Amino acid sequence: MKETHTIRKDGVRFFMKKKWIVVGVFFLLCAAAGAYAAVQAPDISLEVQPADAADGEYIALSAKLTYRYQYLLCAHVLEETEDMPAAYVGSTRQELHEQIAPDSITQFSKGEVVLTRRLNTYCPAHYVAYLEEGGMAIYQNLLGSEEAERVLAFGLRAGALSLAEEQALSRGKVFSSLEAAQAYAAKAVSGAEAG
Ligand SMILES: [Zn+2]
Repeated sequence: MKETHTIRKDGVRFFMKKKWIVVGVFFLLCAAAGAYAAVQAPDISLEVQPADAADGEYIALSAKLTYRYQYLLCAHVLEETEDMPAAYVGSTRQELHEQIAPDSITQFSKGEVVLTRRLNTYCPAHYVAYLEEGGMAIYQNLLGSEEAERVLAFGLRAGALSLAEEQALSRGKVFSSLEAAQAYAAKAVSGAEAG
């Protein structure tokens, strides 16, 4: 009985060993299949690429180009749309990437491309007053640019403004309309005349 039991035990062990061999062979087959797939992979991707190219849209002649400006200082977003410049017509997204900062392309389709620019300034809806040599000037930002245009300038006598006012103006004092900026400037100028 004891011997039979041992034989059975051996039999079980043998079976288990056989099972591990089967598992081992299975893994070897998997590895071989993986290696085969890896070797085949370049061919597979080559087959896929023409399909991708066919799916990849190009910019149509009738497409519109929208510039979306995100103004960081006032959080306003302004857009302007124009006809697609000839230089971009017929380009794929990848080709456009080569001509334009890639992260600015926020929408791309055959009919419309949106380019987003983040501008570290106020949008043109605001007027900003600064102190300049001998006076005060009011600026308005140009659309889509961090450049500003001088809208108005006023002469000021030295000492016309309080120190706090001068400090505010040295950083730029923001107004939501030209009228508000003008009213502020007029008050400062009259203050200067009075003094
Ligand atoms: Zn704004």
